[in-house]
Amino acid sequence: MRRRRGLEKSQIVVFIILAAALIGVTVWAVLIVVEGFRMNENTPPAQELVDNALATPSPVPTVTPIPAASPTPSPTPTPEPTPEPVNPFLAFAFSASEKLEMYERFHARYPNLAYDEVVWKVNAGLYYAHFENPQIHDLAELHPLVVNPFFRLHDDFEPHALVQIPGLHFRVTPETLTAFNAKNEAAREAGHTLQVISTYRDIAHQRRLWNASGDGAVARPGHSEHHTGRAIDYGDGAGGFLDIRTATPMGRWLADNAHRFGFILRYTEENTHITGFISEPWHFTYVGYEIANAMFYGAYESLEEYTGRNPDAQARFTRHILAQ
Ligand SMILES: [Zn+2]
Repeated sequence: MRRRRGLEKSQIVVFIILAAALIGVTVWAVLIVVEGFRMNENTPPAQELVDNALATPSPVPTVTPIPAASPTPSPTPTPEPTPEPVNPFLAFAFSASEKLEMYERFHARYPNLAYDEVVWKVNAGLYYAHFENPQIHDLAELHPLVVNPFFRLHDDFEPHALVQIPGLHFRVTPETLTAFNAKNEAAREAGHTLQVISTYRDIAHQRRLWNASGDGAVARPGHSEHHTGRAIDYGDGAGGFLDIRTATPMGRWLADNAHRFGFILRYTEENTHITGFISEPWHFTYVGYEIANAMFYGAYESLEEYTGRNPDAQARFTRHILAQ
């Protein structure tokens, strides 16, 4: 019985140990299962995740709006074509691009000249020295017709028409006579008698004069304004040339009024370096009221300057003359 009890005791111990182990394992298992349920509760099933993703768009990450770098409305940057630098000689309406090289060379020779002076002087032929390279007018009837050391008339040049001054053996072009008659009448009303001593000379006449005198006092054949039929020399009434500078009443009247009838004092002391002629205070040339008036009030110092600054005017006047 004792033994049996002893055995029974050890069996009980083993049983208890086994039972305890069993309980431990069971509790451990239960804990694991419980923990698993907990995790399942917190973690939505996969399908639920997918559904959520489709239903609610992933919240847009609020990007802090970057303030526009320059809130000022930048003016639309018009792509400006890089402007061609304007050549200083070609900046004038009276420039001729084909003469650019001459402008530049002339300016190199006279660096103190203003650009516009360079342009009109080259236009007027002053690039060359007097008589160095005289051009022959390709149009016989220009108006104004500039005849000087740079431009000459063809040997065969004849004015488009010549008419005689009434009562005199002198001839001029018709428009010159019309202007002269008006001027003569106004002079008479002012108490003056104009004395004409020279007008048109043909080239043979001019050649005889030049052969006798040479350069200085007489223009070379082809270079004389008297060949154009538009120039008139006045006498002083005592056998000599008139000198409007001597302040005789008639001289003063001519100096003050000739422009009103389209005449200019062609050769002055101021423009001798351009015209190549000494001052001739008796030689008036018909150029029309517009030019004569502009020159009288100082817009141009010489007829050369007028044509150099108005290179297109000559052709216009040519048409005007030919239409008459
Ligand atoms: Zn003359």
